[in-house]
Amino acid sequence: MSGILRLPYRMASTSSVPAALLRSAAYVGGSWLQSSDSATFPVLDPATGTELVKVADCGPRECREAVNAAAKAFQSWKDVPSKERSILLRKWYDLMIQHKDELARIITAENGKPTKEALGEIAYAAGFLEWYSEEARRIYGDVISVPMKDRRALALKQPVGVASIITPWNFPSAMITRKVGAALAAGCTVVMKPAEDTPLSALALAELAHQAGIPAGVYNVVPCSREKAPAVGEVLCTHPSVAKISFTGSTATGKILLRLAADSVKRVSMELGGHAPFIVFDSADLDKAAAGALACKFRNSGQTCVSANRFLVQKGIQDAFVKKLSALMAKELHVGNGFDEGVTQGPLINDRAVDKVERHIKDAVSQGARLVAGGKPSDAGRNFYEPTLLSNVTTQMLCAKEETFGPLAPVIEFDTEEEAIAIANSANVGLAGYFYSQDPAQIWRVAERLEVGMVGVNEGLLSSVECPFGGVKQSGIGREGSKYGIDEYLEVKYVCFGGL
Ligand code: ADP
Repeated sequence: MSGILRLPYRMASTSSVPAALLRSAAYVGGSWLQSSDSATFPVLDPATGTELVKVADCGPRECREAVNAAAKAFQSWKDVPSKERSILLRKWYDLMIQHKDELARIITAENGKPTKEALGEIAYAAGFLEWYSEEARRIYGDVISVPMKDRRALALKQPVGVASIITPWNFPSAMITRKVGAALAAGCTVVMKPAEDTPLSALALAELAHQAGIPAGVYNVVPCSREKAPAVGEVLCTHPSVAKISFTGSTATGKILLRLAADSVKRVSMELGGHAPFIVFDSADLDKAAAGALACKFRNSGQTCVSANRFLVQKGIQDAFVKKLSALMAKELHVGNGFDEGVTQGPLINDRAVDKVERHIKDAVSQGARLVAGGKPSDAGRNFYEPTLLSNVTTQMLCAKEETFGPLAPVIEFDTEEEAIAIANSANVGLAGYFYSQDPAQIWRVAERLEVGMVGVNEGLLSSVECPFGGVKQSGIGREGSKYGIDEYLEVKYVCFGGL
């Protein structure tokens, strides 16, 4: 945003990345490689601005090399018995748990999230490897009954092939394992492009994959700078040896990748932006609703695609809800360096993220929203923003129209259930939606009518390894995690036996 005043970094540098798992090269075909032109890009601690390390800046050439390595490895990995694939994934999981503290430190250093949340992410991330080590052995086909006496029919499940995987910075570890666990369990091999802000988690996972004995070429990582992402993305989405693309990130980038994938008709999974409504009905238990709102909105400083983005609160309890939420925010939220004890709100990832929060607040206030809490950059320094609560928000304001991806809770008042559903469903995206009600008939009605892929009923945190994650409308295509996630990496092949 032009004219914005950038605060200086004020945090002392408490970040230290554990050296044992710190890698700065690409991981291709089981080896650590520099980029061919020796280019690198810096990874910064968002809390202090300190450069953590310079990482290999891969281009199309390294990316093609990685795809070729993955294609070669696929020829043997697809035939590795599922029990062996399962054992290897389990070893990878065990190593993640063994190294959970170091892995969490890496997340806090490159992403900024508080240590407790980073540890939570590692448990969640490792959980996908554990889950898919179990699911690897449960890939079933079907025997199908046909009307012809002399025929028998089968449906076989086979791995799709090489998968290109592009991940975001907000869950630097879990967004990788959620995809890679399913892919490897299915018998696919992968080329991973992590986000430029957070490549260190992806590379630490590569080191552990290596130690676990995952064969060379099965898991490849090509980090690159933002500048090179389009060229690398083009190779990942158009290379003839790539069969599948799985992306988590913004809807805008997802559309670019979908267009690229269209030319060679590749399979795609897209987990894109959300604009989650969080509806509080008159019948809600207000204490629970406020606690759920706090957890749902401010985890990872609001930087998750399932974060509540619009609070729709029924007229009768609007004032009481705003009061309770603002009291909880004052008591529970502490802004600071994620490495420091008691901090719940780390920095936002970068300047662009801060600008967006600021823009949404200024727009809302200029149109009549009331600032209940926060509303300005935090004294903690550059990239930190005060948790903010706005009331009197209308559907015309920017924060009610697009995803903020930051610590802003805007409250919109509504009258009837119909009105709340209409506002909630007016978005062209539909990832998560939440509501609080104690009326069973209303619970069924609203759960069924919300146009989203995931619904939290009287619950603000819904992600779980065992349950399907994904959206409808422009929030994406496909599901991750759960028993459904592995289908994204499997083809169904029909085999007809005749003349019997
Ligand atoms: P954000 O704006 O929050 O960084 P993006 O969707 O742009 O969200 O980024 C998510 C991931 O997509 C990152 O790994 C990023 O490098 C990658 N990315 C961004 N643009 C492209 C592109 N044109 N081609 C391939 N990957 C891209």
